[in-house]
Amino acid sequence: MITRFAPSPTGLLHLGHAFSALTVWQAAQAAGGTMLLRHEDIDTTRARPAFYTAIEEDLAWLGLSWPAPVRRQSEHLDDYAAMLARLIGLGAVFRCPRTRKELAEAAAGAPQAGDAADPFAAPNLPRLPEAEVERRIAAGESFAWRFDPVAAARLLAGGAPVFEADGVVLEADPFRLGQAILARKDAPASYHLCVVHDDALQGVTDVIRGADLAGAAHLHVTLQALLGLPVPRYHHHRLLTGPDGRRFAKRDGAVTLQALRAQGWTADRVRAQVGL
Ligand code: GLU
Repeated sequence: MITRFAPSPTGLLHLGHAFSALTVWQAAQAAGGTMLLRHEDIDTTRARPAFYTAIEEDLAWLGLSWPAPVRRQSEHLDDYAAMLARLIGLGAVFRCPRTRKELAEAAAGAPQAGDAADPFAAPNLPRLPEAEVERRIAAGESFAWRFDPVAAARLLAGGAPVFEADGVVLEADPFRLGQAILARKDAPASYHLCVVHDDALQGVTDVIRGADLAGAAHLHVTLQALLGLPVPRYHHHRLLTGPDGRRFAKRDGAVTLQALRAQGWTADRVRAQVGL
C-alpha cells in the first residue's frame, strides 16, 4: 500500500489534521506500506515557508515518518499544465470568464450539482454562448477552466468508470461535483487536477482522507478515466469535531499541535484525544 497525507501549508496543524495523519499512518503501518507526505501548496498567496517546516515537525513529533523527497506541488506547475492541455484536447473542459456575482445569479434557479450539500460542488449551469466567451476573453477578461460533465459523460459513454470507496464499488458520476474549476483565473491548476496527477505519478494505491471529499472522488475517478490513469482505492474517515460540535478549523488557533505541545501535551495524549 502506498498512501499519502497531503496538507496545505497555509496554517499550523490542529487536532483534526492529527487525526487524519494518524489514520493514514496507521493504515500504512497495518498494511506494511508507505505513507508519503505531499505539500499541496499551489495557492502560493496563502502558503508560508514557516508552515512547511512546522507541519513536518508536528508530524515527526507524532511519531510519523515518510520517504524523501517530499513533493511540493508549486514546483511542478508544468506537469499540471500538461494535464490541463490533455483535457482541453479532449474537450472535457471549457473556459469560463464569469465573475462570482454572475455565477451566483445564474445559479439561482439553475439545476444544481448532484449533491447540493457537498461543500465542493459547483452548479451545472447552462454555458455562455462560445461567441460571448470569445468576445470577453479577447477584451482582456481572465477566465477559469471548468470541468464539463456533459462532455465527460459523452467521452465515457462506453461505461462509467468504477472505483472502490470504503469497501463499496461505485460508478463515478461526472455530474456529482458539477462544473468544478480545474484551472483558476489566478493559478494554472486547481486542487482536483493536481491531486489526480500526483496520486498517479506517486503510485498511490489508497487515498485516505476526510469524508468531506467523498463527493470529490467521483470527479477524480472521472478525470483518471479520461486521462488513462490508474484508479486508487478510496477511504474516507469521519471529520473530527470540537467540544462545540463544529469541525476543527485553522482559525481555531488554540488547538494547534504546537500550542498543545507548548502546554505539555505528549503525542500519546494527542492520540488518545482523537480516539486512536
Ligand atoms: N490538500 C487537501 C487538504 O488539505 C488534501 C486532500 C486530499 O487528501 O486529497 O484538505
